Amino acid sequence: MHCSVPKSNLGHSRGHGFIRFQFTVAILAAYGGIRTESERNKKEERKGGQPMCGIVGYIGPREATPILLDGLKKLEYRGYDSAGIAVYDQGSLYVVKAKGRLQNLEKLVSRQKVPGTVGIGHTRWATHGEPSDVNSHPQTNQSGDIAVVHNGIIENYLYLKEWLMGKGYSFVSDTDTEVIAHLVNFYYEGDLLQAVRDTLRRLEGSYALGVIC
Ligand code: GLU
Repeated sequence: MHCSVPKSNLGHSRGHGFIRFQFTVAILAAYGGIRTESERNKKEERKGGQPMCGIVGYIGPREATPILLDGLKKLEYRGYDSAGIAVYDQGSLYVVKAKGRLQNLEKLVSRQKVPGTVGIGHTRWATHGEPSDVNSHPQTNQSGDIAVVHNGIIENYLYLKEWLMGKGYSFVSDTDTEVIAHLVNFYYEGDLLQAVRDTLRRLEGSYALGVIC
């Protein structure tokens, strides 16, 4: 496998056609999984008014990008260090993400077309990997046609990362989230929802996810 995730923060890649489109968006909330002490501490910090990240998703008749950006604006009050979106259109997945304020993302979006009526967006508060363009969400699989946004922490990500690397996957970010994109890729056999279910069985921690392909 080779990595086609662009080094810049703009990019699009081909999706897998209609069968994938049927389950293009799988938004799953799975808070309440196994929690370690550090995770509990993090949650306590958040209750105390610390920044929290946010996820937004859209599927419908309208262009997704402005709706996602608007949704992310509404989540700004929670605090974040970077933001990004992934939008699906006719076999292509467009991923745009940037470190820093939402204006940075908006600037990038204004410079290119990000068409499509299905998408996910994220504001990140880094737990694994510094705030940077490449560590921003969405995180993708190597071919860039599965994108994941994630709130929370994957406690066993190091084990999963090594396991995936042993299977030939290579990583571009320092996030725990990237293992999810590769795991969904690993399990995907034409049914995104099933691939996400199989992936969830491997994850320890607590998390909310948006997955698109
Ligand atoms: N643990 C993930 C990361 O560091 C998600 C952080 C968040 O909840 O925004 O990228």
